Amino acid sequence: MTIPEPSNFIQDIIVSDLKSGKRKNVHTRFPPEPNGYLHIGHAKSICLNFGTAQKYGGKTNLRFDDTNPAKEDLEYVDSIREDVRWLGFDWEDREFYASDYYEKCYEFAEQLIQKGKAYVCELKGDEVGLYRGTLTEPGTPSPWRDRTPEENLSLFRKMRAGEFEEGDCFLRAKIDMANPNMNMRDPALYRIKKVSHHRTGENWCIYPMYDFAHPIGDWIEGITHSICTLEFEAHRPLYDWVLLELELENRPQQIEFARLNLTYTMMSKRKLLELVERGLVNSWDDPRMPTVSGLRRRGYSPSSIREFADRIGISKADSMVDIQLLYFCIREELNKAAQRAMAVLDPVKVVIDNWEPGRVEMLKVENNPENPEQGSRMVPFGRKIYIERDDFMEEPPKKYFRLHPEGEVRLKGAYFIRFANLVKDENGRITEIHCTYDPDSRGGESPDGRKVKGTIQWVSAEHAVNAEIRLFDHLFTIENPAEIPSEEDLENYLNPNSCEIKQAKLEPMLGAASETDRYQFMRLGYFCLDKDSTAENPVFNRIVELKDSWGKQQAKG
Ligand code: ATP
Ligand code: MG
Repeated sequence: MTIPEPSNFIQDIIVSDLKSGKRKNVHTRFPPEPNGYLHIGHAKSICLNFGTAQKYGGKTNLRFDDTNPAKEDLEYVDSIREDVRWLGFDWEDREFYASDYYEKCYEFAEQLIQKGKAYVCELKGDEVGLYRGTLTEPGTPSPWRDRTPEENLSLFRKMRAGEFEEGDCFLRAKIDMANPNMNMRDPALYRIKKVSHHRTGENWCIYPMYDFAHPIGDWIEGITHSICTLEFEAHRPLYDWVLLELELENRPQQIEFARLNLTYTMMSKRKLLELVERGLVNSWDDPRMPTVSGLRRRGYSPSSIREFADRIGISKADSMVDIQLLYFCIREELNKAAQRAMAVLDPVKVVIDNWEPGRVEMLKVENNPENPEQGSRMVPFGRKIYIERDDFMEEPPKKYFRLHPEGEVRLKGAYFIRFANLVKDENGRITEIHCTYDPDSRGGESPDGRKVKGTIQWVSAEHAVNAEIRLFDHLFTIENPAEIPSEEDLENYLNPNSCEIKQAKLEPMLGAASETDRYQFMRLGYFCLDKDSTAENPVFNRIVELKDSWGKQQAKG
């Protein structure tokens, strides 16, 4: 088999491993902690792990990192499965749990003890930190550091048997209390936690630390390249230490990449959980949430998210990606694929005085100018229609090409109309705009070469479908929500206008929309049905606006 050309630094390592014979295959894993729903950052990691293995003919495991028994939940396990599958990836029968390996981890811990490489330490809480030293000063050896392997083994077995209480003691690696890397100053391997676990129940009262369980899990599963985010860089020496001291062969290699940061987007599961629990958003799949389920409900496609992951690429240096790039990816896809439709979000009635009352005409309107194969549809037109309230101005500024007391405007696919007069209510608010139409401009074509610059959308009043439309904006007001000091401050940074609701008029075809349909509402953006929708009360989400500001910025350079 020819080895595909690498296109990033991780693939460079893989290709060199395959060429040198260090590795015969590629096997990665995606290791979420089931303590919340996956977000767009995880999506990047999923695309990276599954995508890289796919490219090199390898496999990817789904491994739930359930080493923290107190915080985990089955609901999260299910949502993670659903989200990975939805993104288009398949772990086949390779679904694992860190807890599957508790027995093996325990056995390995005993091996380290017997080798004199781990000991039971009885330092308490604060003392552990004090003994560890600082970045500038070496640590102090624990008074329990020189226990014999026999003594340690016996104590560790008592820990397992539940003979100690939480905090009485813990197992730690015996490495180097003066190591400049704090993670190597005799890190904890096991601690006592008298809690039940959602998979192992009451079997255990000691639990391995992530830094111990993770390399072991990787090794057991035959992972070749263990890809993780940069914050684990300083843990890599420990990762390697564990595998080396256990004298394991075919050791996996940990490789770090920079996590995704997106403007205006909160990327911490813990803080996203706060938003949900405190009711600051409606649910994990609230369309404003950066969760995979939120994006799905909002109307994003898996392919647009994969495209986004592809475009941002991977690197070794932290950076902030402009959220406009995500919008760009879905917009580009929908521009090609989405059926066009007409909707009016802030309707005002237009009466066409010279149109015979009761007469309805079916007009042919193209479905997608980007793709003629999508054909056309028939849209009813009558004497009364709705247009957007701001598509009329009594006293327009210069270069206002929509409807105003002088001049004509084109109704998309229908006719030219000209202003006649206005009806206002007692508050001076316009209730009806009377117009006349030019019967010779059918289809919106000029009959005599006269130019009409503005084209606006419309919906026949008699045939309109009433719908609720939800327009979304960023959930946070600051560009980098990671800077929000604490969970209690979250509400101070929430955008009060992140969801605007409109009672809209839609063209009749939209009454038959299905959940998988995506539409471009002319001049308004891309929309899809929300799951709150019912036959009586359709609800549409705006997926993204039409404006292509990111693309334009790029073009300008
Ligand atoms: P959070 O702080 O949001 O809970 P996490 O890293 O604790 O994130 P995990 O469930 O442990 O969440 O993550 C599973 C995998 O996803 C890990 O390999 C992690 O490195 C990766 N990951 C998490 N956040 C991001 C991100 N923003 N960009 C890229 N990868 C990420
Ligand atoms: Mg984590």
